Amino acid sequence: MELKSSSNFLKNILNEDLKMGKVDHIITRFPPEPNGYLHIGHAKSIVLNFELADEFKGKTHLRFDDTNPTKEDTEYVESIKEDVLWLGYEWDNLFFASNYFEEMYKRAVLLIKKGKAYACDSTAEEIRQMRGSLTEVGQGSPYRDRTVQENLDLFERMRKGEFKDGEKVLRAKIDMASPNINMRDPVLYRIAHATHHNTGDQWCIYPMYDFAHPLEDAIEGVTHSICTLEFEDHRPLYDWVVRECEMENVPHQYEFARLNITNTVMSKRKLKQLVEDKVVDGWDDPRMPTISGLRRRGYTAEAIRNFAREIGVAKADSVVDTKMLEHFIREDLKLKSPRTMAVLKPLKVIITNYPEGQVEMLEAEINPENPEMGTRQISFSREVYIEQDDFTENPPAKYHRLFPGNEVRLKNAYFIKCNDSVKDEFGNVVELHCTYDPETKSGSGFTGRKVKGTIHWVDALQAIPAEFRLYEALILDEDIEDGTSFLEHINPKSLEIVHGFVEQNIKGAKPQDKFQFFRHGYFTVDSLYSTGDHLIFNRIVSLKNTFELPK
Ligand code: ATP
Ligand code: MG
Repeated sequence: MELKSSSNFLKNILNEDLKMGKVDHIITRFPPEPNGYLHIGHAKSIVLNFELADEFKGKTHLRFDDTNPTKEDTEYVESIKEDVLWLGYEWDNLFFASNYFEEMYKRAVLLIKKGKAYACDSTAEEIRQMRGSLTEVGQGSPYRDRTVQENLDLFERMRKGEFKDGEKVLRAKIDMASPNINMRDPVLYRIAHATHHNTGDQWCIYPMYDFAHPLEDAIEGVTHSICTLEFEDHRPLYDWVVRECEMENVPHQYEFARLNITNTVMSKRKLKQLVEDKVVDGWDDPRMPTISGLRRRGYTAEAIRNFAREIGVAKADSVVDTKMLEHFIREDLKLKSPRTMAVLKPLKVIITNYPEGQVEMLEAEINPENPEMGTRQISFSREVYIEQDDFTENPPAKYHRLFPGNEVRLKNAYFIKCNDSVKDEFGNVVELHCTYDPETKSGSGFTGRKVKGTIHWVDALQAIPAEFRLYEALILDEDIEDGTSFLEHINPKSLEIVHGFVEQNIKGAKPQDKFQFFRHGYFTVDSLYSTGDHLIFNRIVSLKNTFELPK
């Protein structure tokens, strides 16, 4: 498939900056906070940052923005590294913001010395109240005019742990009347007596995002710091911090639209809640929009990369249809994955005129769309399984599958005709008695008569039992921004588990192997629970493709 070139407004900026000599090389960064697993929204940022830099022979850093000790964990650090690598990107440098805490502290001291920062005893609530609004200017803190000496002393004592959480903060002294609320003396440091995953108990004051992030970028020599749109109004503060802290390297912030997908929650906080409330079976549950969940579901890195490239970068927020993501996995697997037959909800068929004990091998293509994959042998005998849905006693109009007296083709095998059915004590059909016509073998050139239906099947003697996990969207509603919690919109039918059989050719299938099951869609072997004795397949996506890429 032809991909849209990654041409976008950011690429134009980079191009221009290089041409005008504003920068002589490009450094971007992907800066996750290690407070959860990465999701598909992060993939957009990863693809963008790594590929932009790559295009201009630049570098990309993986930087953990770990300035919030209570929410962060090394488990998340490890999972993030794994996911970035799996997506196919290698960072040029790996950094932790927490390694710059001493440097950040020194820069804060510099601000105090310049009269640009002060220790404030107001509570969070008081600070919020005095901040004003879009129509009202803010009020200055009663601690705003403390002397440099007093501020230096208090900040040092904050660091030493002399105060409790929330007792004091360090604030920038900018402009309480600024039309941009972010500039009304924002908090730079808070007190948190908490153990940090990297620095342990070394610190009890931690820098706020708006102070830390520009310093991290400047320290690392990042040239283009790309973030999502909600930070647009923070850009003047970003520039203020870099300037007033007298950083040698001057990075610039650019914003692009966050990725949203229909029927999907996309925030680590919410995803964490799904995990903690056990709505799902962990961060890598195949219904999760996390990279690890998509991987376990059977998505390939290539499909995710192509999806991210196609959606591109825009300056306006929008919601992308899940069908678009599905489109890319079908595209990727279409030519790569072997076709086989699997019966998800089996019904036994006895072919009464087929000799007992006889087994024959039938030849079939492994992938009709990719003949180079060659052929496979499928065994056929007197007993086969078909789908329960492929038989009915009372066929509606245009039903071309099996019903009493009707004839269909068994894919790659013979015509069979249904003569009789056996029912259990509840009246459910549990077995069909059919006859086959040896003249009608697939590939024999038989033209005697035609049938309207072709159904799939597996040889009951040779087939391998398997579990199939069929997924639907985890979140029901298109739009959940109606004041209710997303937890009230969980799809109770997001997972259906059924037990059936797969063709014997799949024997030995390993976790992450991918197949197209005829008429059912693409499946992968579950990497967590599937074993040699108990095969479990996750349905990645069904075959039906109703999505067309915009031209
Ligand atoms: P979340 O609310 O899911 O935790 P976040 O923005 O707080 O998201 P970070 O770990 O801080 O998550 O993000 C790392 C990078 O990924 C940031 O540069 C951020 O802009 C980007 N990012 C996060 N979510 C999305 C998204 N939905 N679409 C595009 N980029 C995103
Ligand atoms: Mg965050």
